[in-house]
Amino acid sequence: MAKDFIHFFGTTGNKDIFFKKIRSAGGLYFHVDDTNLIIDPGVYTFYKYIHTYQDKIDGIILSHIHIDHSNDLNIFVELMTNGGEEKRGTVLVPNQAIEEKVLYSYLKDFPEHLEIVKPNSKYAIKNIEITSSIEHKHGIENYGFKIKTKNHLIGLVTDTAYFPELLVSYQNCEILIMNVPYHIQDKQKPKHLDIPATQEFIKAIKPKKVVLTHFNEDILKANPVLLASKLTEKYGIEVISAEDDMILEL
Ligand SMILES: [Zn+2]
Repeated sequence: MAKDFIHFFGTTGNKDIFFKKIRSAGGLYFHVDDTNLIIDPGVYTFYKYIHTYQDKIDGIILSHIHIDHSNDLNIFVELMTNGGEEKRGTVLVPNQAIEEKVLYSYLKDFPEHLEIVKPNSKYAIKNIEITSSIEHKHGIENYGFKIKTKNHLIGLVTDTAYFPELLVSYQNCEILIMNVPYHIQDKQKPKHLDIPATQEFIKAIKPKKVVLTHFNEDILKANPVLLASKLTEKYGIEVISAEDDMILEL
């Protein structure tokens, strides 16, 4: 069996960056403990996946309905269930994805389990335990997740403005994958994290490893590789700036 890993299909959520083809939009593939999970399948994730892997997918997880996270959701449900021929796998989505038919109604019966994300709740997909976070502040219904494998606790801090209560949701994570589009966030009503917020996570949670991803123009101009190395120096932990199609071995 191949080693456990996380494949980062894309590392932006920002339309300008995507349309200019500077980076691909979202999408993570977790191949861990003999369990295969697709998380936030944005634009192009499906195409990349089927050209790279033949693995059977066990679960599909959506943090929120924005298109850079949800574009390929439905086609992945088709793939996981072999076009509805095999009732298998789990789809875990916020209620808004059902209400707004981001998950097409005809697909709701295809997976073995369709689960709705509630805050601070536990779910199991094959060998993996998943705990949802407190609701994020992102303008629409959105959650992050803690992914518990045999050897790791991985926090997936999806899009959100920073607020201190967030830190409780990601306690004890040794790996944090963080959506950090901004170097310094200066919007009146922020919806995303920046580097100062990332430092609050590092100080409170003390992870061994942090992966920065989901970049927009602001952080790309500031050079996320450089920002990551500065954080490594300051806190003595491994901080990585994600690249498209990066494989993080676990
Ligand atoms: Zn979003």
